[in-house]
Amino acid sequence: KVKSPLEVYKFLPQTNCGECGYDTCMSFAAQIIDRSVKPTDCPPLVEKAKTDKKFEKKLNELIELTSPEVAEVVIGTGESAVKIGGEDVLHRHELTFFNPPPFFFDVWDTLDEAQIDERCKKVVEYRKFYVGDYITLEGIAVRCTSNDPEKFRSVAKKVSEYGKPMILISLNPECMRAALEEVADKKPLIYAATEDNWKDFLQLALEFNVPVTLRSKNLDTLKSMAKTFKDAGVKEIVLDPVTEPLGDGLRGTFERVVQLRRTGILGEDKDVAYPIMVTPIAAWLVEGDEVTKGYWEAVIAGTFIVKYADIMIFRNLEQYTVMPSVILRYNIYTDPRTPVQVEPGLREINSPGPEDPVFITTNFALTYYTVESDLSSNNIKGWLLVLDTEGLGVEVSVAGGQFTAAKVKDLIQQTGIEQKVNHKNLVIPGLAARLQGAIEDETGWSVFVGPMDSGRIKGWLEKNWPP
Ligand code: SF4
Repeated sequence: KVKSPLEVYKFLPQTNCGECGYDTCMSFAAQIIDRSVKPTDCPPLVEKAKTDKKFEKKLNELIELTSPEVAEVVIGTGESAVKIGGEDVLHRHELTFFNPPPFFFDVWDTLDEAQIDERCKKVVEYRKFYVGDYITLEGIAVRCTSNDPEKFRSVAKKVSEYGKPMILISLNPECMRAALEEVADKKPLIYAATEDNWKDFLQLALEFNVPVTLRSKNLDTLKSMAKTFKDAGVKEIVLDPVTEPLGDGLRGTFERVVQLRRTGILGEDKDVAYPIMVTPIAAWLVEGDEVTKGYWEAVIAGTFIVKYADIMIFRNLEQYTVMPSVILRYNIYTDPRTPVQVEPGLREINSPGPEDPVFITTNFALTYYTVESDLSSNNIKGWLLVLDTEGLGVEVSVAGGQFTAAKVKDLIQQTGIEQKVNHKNLVIPGLAARLQGAIEDETGWSVFVGPMDSGRIKGWLEKNWPP
């Protein structure tokens, strides 16, 4: 694998023509290493490869050398399609994790229509605002519990109308064939080829050109099936080492998942370098009430979001399962190379007037959205200065020198806040208390130390505002 832009550069036309949108081949090469572009985004290279064997070889070699360690698989079509796998590292801080595991929620074909609709709608309509983004749920897993091909076909068709990527679940090749005849053009993932049915599933994956899951607790069997499928021409493979809930079962699952990923990334053995499926829904095999099962789903999901699930199937759509899982996923899959940040500047909260307070916070997205929502939801009118701290939170940026009195002065000038208010009183976060004197000296404003926690601003204002 190539690791540096210089190594990639050798494969490029080196004309700096700019057709790729970058000024130089070297900056394009840096973007390839960063995974923001692909070799085929260089038009001259692609054109030359069509007519010149030497360039064709270069292009193919470059694609091979820059492809991720773990194969990438796409499920679904169009804008809602999800990419899974495609990872290059075992530890997030070594680079970043690229493709968050999509969450699929099950429906089964012995549910009545209204129940299927209810569950599908919940998946489609789920939206959670978090750090400036809307988090959504990605897909629906359709389980064949009727063992009736026609029933499974019609439910797969119905679910496909919701436009979400799908996993079709049946070990019966006849049922799977019926559903694929109906929805193969939506590119569902089929689940699952096992030691018993793999020949039929191999045939189905090739005939309908859909990604396929291979399922076995035995990693040698999994590897041998993966090799057989690959050699037969199946490109999109997902491995399910079987999720077992609780105690020894969960520990065994964890060991299998880690071993698969370590071998796929570090070992020479690319036969297992495929996306891994984990199924928190296995928690429903355990005795207990629904809340306990939903709790265990969240526990299993949390364990494997961190290491190394690429796709997951759930049942429980209640917030106590979904919310911790989506939030953990969001945080693990942020790019550690670029802190999550918002635009610095001035925000007006609840249409403030000239007499209303001026607050300051940092442009670390989590801090900013917490402060902004605490002010807005408490109906506080105010002016919020957002300081460019390079995406760092208050405490860290005060310590690290990104939150300084000089920068506060610049921000006051750049935003023209002095023309918008009839006072010079600034409320700084409690965690920036030690800058109080310096900011007063630098800006000529009176500086008030607000609470440590923006949730307490309302109470703080009642006591301290107007000053
Ligand atoms: Fe270089 Fe290709 Fe980009 Fe042109 S399009 S600058 S040849 S990388």
